[in-house]
Amino acid sequence: DHAPNSWEARAAQYALYGFTDLPSVRDRGTVVVTHGEGPYIFDTNGKKYLDSNSGLWNMVAGFDHKGLAEAAKAQYDRFPGYHAFFGRMSDQTVALSETLVNVSPFPRGKVFYTNSGSEANDTLVKMLWFLNRAEGRPQATKILTRKNGYHGVTAVSASMTGKPYNEVFGLPLDGFLHLTCPHYWREGRDGESEAEFTARLAAELDGVIDREGADTIAGFVAEPVMGAGGVIPPPEGYFQAVQAVLRRHGIPLISDEVICGFGRTGEIWGALTYDFMPDAIISSKNLTAGYFPMGAVILGPDLSDRMQAAIDEIEEFPHGFTASGHPVGCAVALKAIDVILNEGLMDRVREGAPRMQAGLSEIAGHPNIGELRGIGYMWALEAVRDRDTKTPFEAALSVSERIANTCTDHGLICRPLGQSVVLCPPFILTDAQMDEMFGKLDAALKQVFSEVA
Ligand code: PLP
Repeated sequence: DHAPNSWEARAAQYALYGFTDLPSVRDRGTVVVTHGEGPYIFDTNGKKYLDSNSGLWNMVAGFDHKGLAEAAKAQYDRFPGYHAFFGRMSDQTVALSETLVNVSPFPRGKVFYTNSGSEANDTLVKMLWFLNRAEGRPQATKILTRKNGYHGVTAVSASMTGKPYNEVFGLPLDGFLHLTCPHYWREGRDGESEAEFTARLAAELDGVIDREGADTIAGFVAEPVMGAGGVIPPPEGYFQAVQAVLRRHGIPLISDEVICGFGRTGEIWGALTYDFMPDAIISSKNLTAGYFPMGAVILGPDLSDRMQAAIDEIEEFPHGFTASGHPVGCAVALKAIDVILNEGLMDRVREGAPRMQAGLSEIAGHPNIGELRGIGYMWALEAVRDRDTKTPFEAALSVSERIANTCTDHGLICRPLGQSVVLCPPFILTDAQMDEMFGKLDAALKQVFSEVA
């Protein structure tokens, strides 16, 4: 019922947007955003919202960081755009590559740029296909990921994504296999300890590799903490157990750090938080604090050497995007990394995480919250009809969407994911803003739970 020619009416008439199948959202129309301030966004009607999702996990420095905007402006003035093809690339592209290798867990490595996390995952898979063929193993093409894992929306990265919604596209492509979601609370069996659950998942991985043939598998890709799958931290010892299996079969482990990387878990890499050494890292989002679209594949020593040998042999890696390694993106990323690591943003996550956990634990005392899970500044509260039996609410009630919509009414953006509500605020959040988030969330939960009781 928006006024004709309003921003909302024009959005409905002219614009399509992603992931908007929810009737509740369709009925409410678009929130058209004009500007931001710290962790807040403002719509065309001047209404202010605390965005507890940092945009899409990425606006970790908030919506008005002057230093990031100035870094972009300075680079636009200096050299506004270039590519990384045919033996040419900008100085900023070189500088960022050196910085990324230096802040990576790798003693040495090499970096390839994309415009997004999806493209970074596609690029990684094409690199594995390319180097396996160059090494005389063209059959080593299969990619292993997990159910509920999210890796993007392009044809390959959507095939890696373990969500049933991709069936509408006829995906996944052949050769993309999805293992059990490592969610102990939901997937653990009666009487099974967390360690036993981990052992079962490692045995499943071993079995799949044996069944498919280790020589047909190109790699295993995993998020340290599943993000869009509903914030699922791994069970105890998970990555150690998985890595032992993969090493025995000579299969690379790739850490998709698009969400976890650069501070979300309280450390620079989720792999560091969970103490494993990947063979490559996929980065995006926080890489530029959301101030420029950019993704990166960071190869560790073994894959760098094999990639370089394959390129030397074939004399070309016929892949790259017009804006791969864009100088403005690289200048912004260099500034974002500096802000996150050296201006205390990551420290704030580490210091704020216990406060975040304590506040959410109090809210999670409500009998309709089945599980609170998370780490650092990424958390989810899962709603249930019955906590003891973990019985979900009836799907038709759309409980998590109602919670998110009620929050929106009260000026808090949070994300419904399955039966959970996700909170992943910008790292700049003050204590008072965190309290505002708790207060609004608590009120919305109480209101919705009383409506659906
Ligand atoms: N990988 C992970 C872990 C993600 O969370 C996302 C996006 O949310 C992607 C990849 C895809 O990134 P993009 O949306 O930039 O294509």
